[in-house]
Amino acid sequence: MVRQDLYRHCMSVMESADIPDSDFDTLCIFQDVLKDKMPLLLPYMNVEAEKEAIILEMVERRISGMPLQYILGEWEFWGLPIKVGEGVLIPRPDTETLIEDILEIVRKTGMKSPKIADLCSGSGCIALALKSEIPSAEVYAVELSEKALVYLKQNVELNKSDINIIKGDVLSPKTSEMLTELDIIASNPPYLTAQDMAELQIEVQKEPETALFGGNDGLDFYRAMTPLWRKSLKIGGYLCYEFGMGQEKDIERIMRENRFTDIKFSRDGGGIIRTVTARKTEV
Ligand code: GLN
Repeated sequence: MVRQDLYRHCMSVMESADIPDSDFDTLCIFQDVLKDKMPLLLPYMNVEAEKEAIILEMVERRISGMPLQYILGEWEFWGLPIKVGEGVLIPRPDTETLIEDILEIVRKTGMKSPKIADLCSGSGCIALALKSEIPSAEVYAVELSEKALVYLKQNVELNKSDINIIKGDVLSPKTSEMLTELDIIASNPPYLTAQDMAELQIEVQKEPETALFGGNDGLDFYRAMTPLWRKSLKIGGYLCYEFGMGQEKDIERIMRENRFTDIKFSRDGGGIIRTVTARKTEV
């Protein structure tokens, strides 16, 4: 089949399966398989049978609810290529807000080679983005899941990044005691509520529950990590979290209860209050 006909076929298959962005998804699949950024510039070019079969199989997986990012096996975050697949959370554009916040802190305070930990690192996207922007930083990525660690290691290699991977549970003092005198802690822990989990989009259901579910009210990780990791921060250091829509009041209370100051929130690209940064100003 020629490209244009195959494209129309794939799009119509996806549309009938109610895939919302069938045009975009088809384009991404074509770009990936045909290794061509603009595959429709050659609409009458024939697609080899083998490649056609691969494309059709990817479309089948997509209509079965598999996220596009897992099918492609790679997604972009902060302009960096990030390997993803079942067992690791897909990087979201919302999380780039956390990177912007931290770069702003580093600029404002004039930190030269900050010691940074990314907790619940998953694919490593946060740690890798920070290291790419602040090459002199000493960056640690902490992750517990074996499956996620496979991707994390691949992403460190793919990006030729010099960050340190620590396998550990962020809820355990054994892990927090390994990292001391930190300038910045960044984390996008699981924050979905029991209610959110019951209403997950089919694509998100394919992502690891351990990266999504934050306990009944979604706040278990913030409640446990904030007092524990406060001890690992330097005086003057910052704790920076991503959290879910509508959680800001609870997050602010948790930060205050743990004597953090300069509590600031930022909105993501969709206008939702998405991140917090707060400072440890006393022992
Ligand atoms: N941003 C993800 C979602 O809403 C949740 C990730 C998380 O819990 N940290 O699907």
